[in-house]
Amino acid sequence: MARAKTVELAQISVRGVVQGVGFRPFVYQLATKHELKGWVLNTSGDVKIEVEGEREALEQFLAELEGEAPTLARIEAITVVSAPPVGYTDFEIRRSLAEEGEYQLVSPDIATCDACKGELLSSDDRRYCYPFTNCTNCGPRFTIIEDIPYDRSKTTMRRFVMCPDCQGEYDDPLDRRFHAQPNACSKCGPSLELLDGDGEVIACDDVITTAGRLLNEGKILAIKGLGGFHLACDATSDKAIELLRHRKRRPYKPLAIMLATMDQVKEHCFVCAEEEKLLTSPQCPIVLLRWKDDSSVSRKVAPGLKYLGVMLPYTPLHHVLLRETGLPLVMTSGNLSEEPIAKDNDEALRRVKGITDYFVVHNRDIYARYDDSVAIVEGQKPQLIRRARGYAPYPVHLPFRTKKQVLACGAELKNTFCITKDNYAFISQHIGDMENLETLEHFENTIELYKKLFRLEPEVVAYDLHPEYLSTKYAKERAGALSLVGVQHHHAHIVSCMVENGVQEPVIGIAFDGTGYGSDGTIWGGEFLVADYKDFQRVGHLEYVPMPGGAAAIERPYRMALSYIYALLGEESLGQGLPFLKEVDGHEINIIKRQLERGINSPPTSSCGRLFDGVSALLGIRGKVDYEAQAAVELEMAAPDEIDEAEAYPFSIVEQDGVRIVKLKELFRAIILDIGRLPVGIISLRFHYTVAQMIVKMCQLIADDQALCKAALSGGVFQNRLLVRLTVAALEKEGFEVLTHSLVPTNDGGISLGQAVISSWE
Ligand code: ZN
Ligand code: ZN
Ligand code: FE
Repeated sequence: MARAKTVELAQISVRGVVQGVGFRPFVYQLATKHELKGWVLNTSGDVKIEVEGEREALEQFLAELEGEAPTLARIEAITVVSAPPVGYTDFEIRRSLAEEGEYQLVSPDIATCDACKGELLSSDDRRYCYPFTNCTNCGPRFTIIEDIPYDRSKTTMRRFVMCPDCQGEYDDPLDRRFHAQPNACSKCGPSLELLDGDGEVIACDDVITTAGRLLNEGKILAIKGLGGFHLACDATSDKAIELLRHRKRRPYKPLAIMLATMDQVKEHCFVCAEEEKLLTSPQCPIVLLRWKDDSSVSRKVAPGLKYLGVMLPYTPLHHVLLRETGLPLVMTSGNLSEEPIAKDNDEALRRVKGITDYFVVHNRDIYARYDDSVAIVEGQKPQLIRRARGYAPYPVHLPFRTKKQVLACGAELKNTFCITKDNYAFISQHIGDMENLETLEHFENTIELYKKLFRLEPEVVAYDLHPEYLSTKYAKERAGALSLVGVQHHHAHIVSCMVENGVQEPVIGIAFDGTGYGSDGTIWGGEFLVADYKDFQRVGHLEYVPMPGGAAAIERPYRMALSYIYALLGEESLGQGLPFLKEVDGHEINIIKRQLERGINSPPTSSCGRLFDGVSALLGIRGKVDYEAQAAVELEMAAPDEIDEAEAYPFSIVEQDGVRIVKLKELFRAIILDIGRLPVGIISLRFHYTVAQMIVKMCQLIADDQALCKAALSGGVFQNRLLVRLTVAALEKEGFEVLTHSLVPTNDGGISLGQAVISSWE
């Protein structure tokens, strides 16, 4: 006996990244498939759906809504309310609805999808070789959005009027380009231009073919990409790279390269499954891969390093260009040493002039500056060390709901900022080193953009205690309008690591970095904290030594080597004919000695970064640096890969006023004895092993006192993969649960998240 089936109606709200990712067409198709009637629309806060039909069909629809959502969608919450049916006769996609004060998540820019790649490379497609091909599954998003809801009129694509073909795709709910806001083709969309070094247009039949030829001739090209300009040249040519380095005034800093295909990547580097997944993901970051000895990529791309920063093409322009040149290409940020990446055509002409021979520009404006993200895989776990393209502005989820909106201004180097709202921490894309006005301006503009996009109105501003950071000054200028909270640098490091691991209870925090302003006004950087979101206690640290000449000691690590020897072993040890002293000017040695004797301009530091610098210089590896942490990086590179059980050097731990201090005298005495007796690489390995043992011994002592079993590692020193490997293994062996970073950088790029959590926690 047939029972009359009852019709029901469901009102659905979906939150998350659900706009600009093909979500409405997906809903449309799903509703049609299940013969449901009603509508779907975007609002400023969510995607709203009303569907009417039989219960079973509705249930199926709901299950598939969550389970089969488009690749780029990230569903955060679905709410369903039943209501009386209204008798819809079809299913339609309705106009977007702007709602006051509401906000929603914005998709990051996403690498070209396989379907678009297919069209791009097939000669009978109307988008063959069109360098701005995209669809709802890929292409620019965050970099072109000026406001929400995400509609073409609110993006930098508004000036391009779609041709009938493109408009047809845009209007067809069954097309891959339905409501793809940046939809374009060669007839109606953005186009390329080739300019000479002075910015004069060069007439040519095809920009990409010409650009490919110029790259093959060893020229340097500034190429406008998704979030800014790259400087490109032939990565196999020593000469081209030397020229680029000379013009950029960067003799050593490693450069990233782009390779056409995964097969090519495997020709030059070792790639594990996890690394391959990351390289080919929609985020498509630069991944630091183990470099093969027989790779034809010039060693000058990353002098002295075992790892090469590699990415696959992520825009149609890249795909076509790489196919055209057939070369591995250097693709480094288009800027002068410390400035932010150039994004606008006139800005690039002004700032990159003199570095580049040619410009490849286009007329789609970049609204948000957006660097390439950089990741590594360590212990099977991907770890971001620069978080930008593909990741920002997707927020980090907080394990609690914030009552206040906090703007955390971050640190100085590798700056990011972070704004909290509800249970989200909107951590910005990598802003850069806040040492000049250009970067400060980028910082200020990006804060305004986030406030606008996510309807943020912070009441509290959090800052680093360092009085000279531009981010701190920015915060203090807002005193009065906003309430101010100062957060200690290393506390912020540890909390950033706790938060992304969802841990709230107190941990032992090991915060090892180059420099951070201590609560007592001294320079910290080798810190053992007992920390939670609210507070911390400095329970231990590395022994203090002077930094002769302050900043000069960071640029010239041999100054630190002299300081350790002088402070720990006494002046007479300097006369031992240590090989590294031969490289240092005798006059400077005398100045340093005087500075150390009298304590002139020699602030004491407990920094672990300086300890690595000092040992690197002492071993004759690196006495002067071109980029941050170069001496420490090269010390790590010197160590052999195959780690047999290394023997630790001696060190001791003393207690003073309830604080444990790691004493380094025996360590330096032992290293000096080994110099000339053991290969430098073995000394380096033993040193790394010793630092891991220092951490374990300290953690055991602290755990005995405070009954804690979780240890969180944070700070720039933990970008050292050898140290992390040794430390995690040693801590786990002793029964500790070890927290490390993955979502936000372990370096100062993660500081803003820690600051935001500490100052919004109550
Ligand atoms: Zn696509
Ligand atoms: Zn068109
Ligand atoms: Fe730091």
